[in-house]
Amino acid sequence: MLPQHSNYKKYEKSLYQERSGYFGERALDYPLKKIQFPHFVTHHTRLEVNHVNFQMDTNLWTPRYNLIIEAKDYTGHISLRDGFNQIVQQKEVAGQKVTNVYDDPVLQVEEQKLQLELWLETQGLPVLPIETLVVMTNPRVILNATQNSIYQEKVIPLSKLSSKLREINQHYNHEHLTLAETRRLASFVASQHQPWKPDVFHRLGLGPGEIRRGVRCPSCRTLPMKWERLRFECSECGLRSADAYIGALKEFFLLYGDQITNRQFRWWTGVESPRTANAMLKRAKLIKVGDNKKTFYRLSYDYENDFNDFTTNKKPAGKFKKHAGIF
Ligand SMILES: [Zn+2]
Repeated sequence: MLPQHSNYKKYEKSLYQERSGYFGERALDYPLKKIQFPHFVTHHTRLEVNHVNFQMDTNLWTPRYNLIIEAKDYTGHISLRDGFNQIVQQKEVAGQKVTNVYDDPVLQVEEQKLQLELWLETQGLPVLPIETLVVMTNPRVILNATQNSIYQEKVIPLSKLSSKLREINQHYNHEHLTLAETRRLASFVASQHQPWKPDVFHRLGLGPGEIRRGVRCPSCRTLPMKWERLRFECSECGLRSADAYIGALKEFFLLYGDQITNRQFRWWTGVESPRTANAMLKRAKLIKVGDNKKTFYRLSYDYENDFNDFTTNKKPAGKFKKHAGIF
């Protein structure tokens, strides 16, 4: 896709936002382990209600209430202003001030609450009081919220999570469920997790004509690189690479799903020779399915681990939990 295109920005931003959630989610592990009251935790659960998917980073299930925690790994100065329904991030990148605007995470988590209530109701499950919280997990973030606003109450730095959890816990005295019932509820929710599928076109309202094809330079991100003398060459920075097409395969996967044919590969990357295309697909270690004219290759990427080079924030050490579950 074309970096200058406004939709590209939108696409990149949306990827950044989702990934920022993953980084953040992981940072919650430690404070959640220290909780003293009985509870169960589910991570990264994506549920479907009325044909619409919604995803929650982290849920705390207790006999008295449920808590949805949305984790964000944003850096820089974060401003949360009443009435704007967005957050503004200001940070320095390579000595330059950059301003980004993201969706309001409080609005996001409140929306998740409504959807979870609806989902629980639809499933005939007990609907306990649901609390919501946004946790900024990056220790370098500077939070700035309107005084006495919902943001001051709902958006907290990671360091305050433990005390905030104790505070919320004290609010609820009535046990709606036994501990065994709570465990069954959390376990059922985790079992209903729907794997992520690419739906970038749908989510961003992109038309197929708005996407630019080609292999992007892994170094300066210029698009497209030129296929010359068995290498992709960047006209901007001069980088030559035989493997640069791997990124193009990942972009294809995000946009079109998990299958690609030789013809589609050539259309997408600009490589003209079917034989060369075959060799590349083989070298990418993709699983070949079918034979002759109906051959396609299976693209199998891990959304959480294989797209680190797509966004600017760095991945912390350690493995992500792949599926929703109770820990
Ligand atoms: Zn380049």
